[in-house]
Amino acid sequence: MELSKVPSVDRLLIESKELIASHGRGPVTEALREVLDDYRDSLKNGGAAMSLAQIIDSAAVHLASHSLGLKRVINLTGTVLHTNLGRAILPPSAIETMVEVAAGVCNLEFDLQTGARGKRDDHIAALVCRITGAEAATVVNNNAAAVMLVLNTFALGKQVPVSRGELVEIGGSFRIPEIMARSGCELVEVGATNRTHLKDYEVAISDQTGLLMKVHTSNYQIQGFTHAVTEAELSGLATRIQLPLVTDLGSGMLVDLRRYNLPYEPTVQAALEAGADLVTFSGDKLLGGPQSGIIAGRQDLIEQINANPLKRALRVDKLTLAALHSVLELYLDPDSLPQHLPTLHYLTRDIEEIAALAGQLSAILGSALPDHDVSVIPLESQIGSGALPLNTIPSVGIAFTPTVAKGSDQAITMLANRFRELPTPVIGRIHDGRFILDLRMLDSVEDIAGQLT
Ligand SMILES: *Cc1c(COP(=O)(O)O)cnc(C)c1O
Repeated sequence: MELSKVPSVDRLLIESKELIASHGRGPVTEALREVLDDYRDSLKNGGAAMSLAQIIDSAAVHLASHSLGLKRVINLTGTVLHTNLGRAILPPSAIETMVEVAAGVCNLEFDLQTGARGKRDDHIAALVCRITGAEAATVVNNNAAAVMLVLNTFALGKQVPVSRGELVEIGGSFRIPEIMARSGCELVEVGATNRTHLKDYEVAISDQTGLLMKVHTSNYQIQGFTHAVTEAELSGLATRIQLPLVTDLGSGMLVDLRRYNLPYEPTVQAALEAGADLVTFSGDKLLGGPQSGIIAGRQDLIEQINANPLKRALRVDKLTLAALHSVLELYLDPDSLPQHLPTLHYLTRDIEEIAALAGQLSAILGSALPDHDVSVIPLESQIGSGALPLNTIPSVGIAFTPTVAKGSDQAITMLANRFRELPTPVIGRIHDGRFILDLRMLDSVEDIAGQLT
């Protein structure tokens, strides 16, 4: 076919009324131009001719996959709490409350009992205290903000000793030394990377010390010849020198995960019982709620935090509070948590159920992708968001190996792109020359099969 037979953009625009109605003339014109550029290249290389309808279809796919803004995707990466994919999925009860609060006026800072002004944190604080046994609690934008606010409140212009084994970096540029500096504190490194003792802290303490801090090394483990100072030991020291002990738990959990046959992740209750005066943790990691950071602990300390002007800059909005409240309510009945909280539902999902999905889907995809080896394989899912990196959960998935280009990198990347360009993009991962989908978070085969037309 000659290049002169390639239809004009104007001709295609006449046939694209539906697309223009939903995306606007400008974006459709751009998408058609891009598709036509590719089409011309393909023709030069001996590619097949396309009909007008096919060109317009390609433009539609282009528009759908290149649109900016958030959209739903299907997370088959094998990492349940994927920071780049938005971490926790909210339960229906939280979504209902958010919608109700968003659509109308609400009692955000209004006390319905007295008719006087209320505090926005009060909606959450009582529940956090009831669940964790803390005296008081406050909520900010995320756990990074919680750590900053605590440091800035108690150690502005002062020193904070932290074990060299706990100077963590969490993905997305959260590093304890940098957060310290920006919070106005001076980090005093204590001990060695693998071993830190109580006497190391004792030596580091001076009248310049603002607080003692323990950071849960959530995304790595130091193994071998190691020693860390326990919270209980540090708490004894903190009491002696009359300074607060703060524990940054990261993915703080509110129930012992072992009751669901999952690996243990330190709980907020355990940290408080071990003597932490304040505990900071994320709302959207294992807790399974909206992005937020919770600080729980001693009443007098929480009052000082709330009096810090930075609290106002880091506070959360009504939608976050609405969702967080609904999620925390679910923790009042831990037995039914896996039924109601999506994060826990996916983490505790029966492997037989995942295997059944894998069997059905591999048959469908096997015929949809004839030039690929499609096989069901055992996998290990990760909790994600830094939690328990070494403790994986057995899962089942599908591996694709392109047969034409002998599993070339390019062929695998192209397959990954095809899944990503579906109307509801499917995100997998490439590993060892294969494209892999972990089906732990696939609700039904239809979610993928229904998209293959
Ligand atoms: C994840 C994490 C943070 C940051 O929490 P965000 O809610 O992502 O801001 C801080 N400290 C530790 C130990 C973490 O694991």
